[in-house]
Amino acid sequence: MLRVVAILRFLYNRPVPIEEGSDTTNLRVGIGHDTHRLGPGGPLKLGGMEIPYDRTLIGHSDADVLLHAVTDALLGAASLGDIGQLFPDTDVANRDRDSSEMVLAALQRVMASGFSVVNVDCIVFAEQPKLGPFFDSLRVRMAELLEIVPEAVGIKAKTGEGVGPVGKGEAMSAQCVVLLEGK
Ligand SMILES: [Zn+2]
Repeated sequence: MLRVVAILRFLYNRPVPIEEGSDTTNLRVGIGHDTHRLGPGGPLKLGGMEIPYDRTLIGHSDADVLLHAVTDALLGAASLGDIGQLFPDTDVANRDRDSSEMVLAALQRVMASGFSVVNVDCIVFAEQPKLGPFFDSLRVRMAELLEIVPEAVGIKAKTGEGVGPVGKGEAMSAQCVVLLEGK
């Protein structure tokens, strides 16, 4: 089949639609992004962990910017809406809510729709603290939440190079992509 596709591509010089039943028809990708302001007080709640730092993320829930991006990526991949629809910030029940619950609620919906997580890749944008020493623990914790192996979790960190809200230490952001596979 791949040979036929290659020949068609060569002849017509354009992509050929993926056929029903091919290996990629059951894959879905989702993207998530989030930003929260930083304020005085610690520790920092990130990726379902507490990281030693003298500043903390501010929000209606526990403001775990990384888990919020993961939650939105999960929901987006399965076309299930977004985190604001699932956990409105106007609902007092969501005040200080543990964001691990949001990931689990999104994962439950994703699985009920017939998908499982293949892998996740995330970037945290933070001027401080240095997150490198926590990457392994973050991967283990997020793998646990997503019911995948730590090898299927990618975490990277970028600074804001001293400019913008991230660079000035006023905020942290996170971006994640999630790949789902249909059963
Ligand atoms: Zn958020």
